[in-house]
Amino acid sequence: MSAIAFDIPEDIRAMRDGLRAFAEAEVLPRHEANRDLFEDQRRLYNEDGRFSDELLQLIGEVRRAASKAGYYQMCVPEHLGGGGMGHLAYFVGWEELFRVCGPQNWLMLYAVSHWAFGPSRMLEKVTEEARAEMLAPMMAGEKSMCFGLSEPGAGSDASQIKTRAVPDGNGWRISGRKIWTSNSPVADYCVVFAVTDPDTRGGISAFLVPTDSPGFQVQRIVKLFGHIGGDEGELLLEDIRVEPWQLVGELHQGFAAALYGVSLGRIYNSARAVGYGRWALEQALEYAGIREAFGKTISEYQGVTFPLAESATELHAAHLMALNSATLLDRGEAAVKELSMTKAYAVQVGYKAVDRAMQTHGAMGFANELGLYHAWHALRIVNVADGTNEILNRTIAQRLLKGDRDL
Ligand SMILES: Cc1cc2nc3c(=O)[nH]c(=O)nc-3n(C[C@H](O)[C@H](O)[C@H](O)COP(=O)(O)OP(=O)(O)OC[C@H]3O[C@@H](n4cnc5c(N)ncnc54)[C@H](O)[C@@H]3O)c2cc1C
Repeated sequence: MSAIAFDIPEDIRAMRDGLRAFAEAEVLPRHEANRDLFEDQRRLYNEDGRFSDELLQLIGEVRRAASKAGYYQMCVPEHLGGGGMGHLAYFVGWEELFRVCGPQNWLMLYAVSHWAFGPSRMLEKVTEEARAEMLAPMMAGEKSMCFGLSEPGAGSDASQIKTRAVPDGNGWRISGRKIWTSNSPVADYCVVFAVTDPDTRGGISAFLVPTDSPGFQVQRIVKLFGHIGGDEGELLLEDIRVEPWQLVGELHQGFAAALYGVSLGRIYNSARAVGYGRWALEQALEYAGIREAFGKTISEYQGVTFPLAESATELHAAHLMALNSATLLDRGEAAVKELSMTKAYAVQVGYKAVDRAMQTHGAMGFANELGLYHAWHALRIVNVADGTNEILNRTIAQRLLKGDRDL
């Protein structure tokens, strides 16, 4: 029996099953064998807050194995050597990984390339020269990148960034600051967004900058939720020389290059919300069936089960919305309104499902070993990262007011 009437194509179903088998063979055993490491923040991070060598070794192993198996680069266009799969596959694959692995077994984050950190269709926007240098190691999972748009003074309104790329001979010199740049502490390249046309709002260009370029510095690791390290960096960019081959997309059209990847990011986060939400709901249902209070299992109390029923309904709706948005994107439609609705709704209901699962568990909901708090953190963050809920609502309202009212 299936709750979904959408006809998922055979190749995508095969990918999903293969990816689950990959996670069972390459991800879960690594967590099992390294439980002590994953439970000890002092071993996960170095003094400066960067991932430790022990952790990077495991991440590298998963990435390389996923690349060999063809999952890592499955959504890279075929003409660049990837699997040529689209948004629907990206959603289905990630949703499976998040749900099956749960939040504790998070090496699965490296089983499929994240569009901003590894190879994706964004690589269509880099020059032939850049591709000759970076494509092979990126596809093999040997090298990674990061996406430097947000700054201390500009987040939602990215048009206000202050980083400048000033013409210098046939190239430019970049100076400025970036913050929240995920994967930057370990990345080999950064796509840096900088103002190139200061007289035009949004006159911004994107540049591919090797992180060992003179003037590129990860100044500090931004730590979140009481962790002693992290994966988000604050960058200082001082007079970095870039050549024409480093331009990504068209000059002054950096936002177009950014938007080229963002649809994958929003599908990814919708999958994360639906997957973790479903995982948490499962935990809550299991626990409600065995925990007793006042002489009955707590599943006998509607006060416990009705919130879970509501989460099931919401997650089902988010799941259907995501399948729909991904299908529209694969048909070549921009689906701006639908994708904004999907990401905003999915992360809110996913977060609520995790929160409700915590409540169902009582005090046990906060115990480290259950991992609910990992999912709670992850989904709380994506209510802000990758377009805040408010900015997505703003986009939806703008589309409605322009006459896009098909629902
Ligand atoms: C874990 C994490 C990882 C990230 N990774 C990256 C990355 O790799 N690269 C990168 O470039 N950025 C990254 N970001 C930054 C992210 O894109 C920004 O946090 C996001 O765009 C919001 O910007 P802000 O945090 O500056 O909030 P602000 O823009 O300052 O917003 C503050 C509040 O005001 C609200 N608000 C703002 N404008 C409006 C409006 N017009 N109407 C209604 N409400 C409004 C917002 O919704 C928010 O609630 C990351 C963020 C996080 C948390």
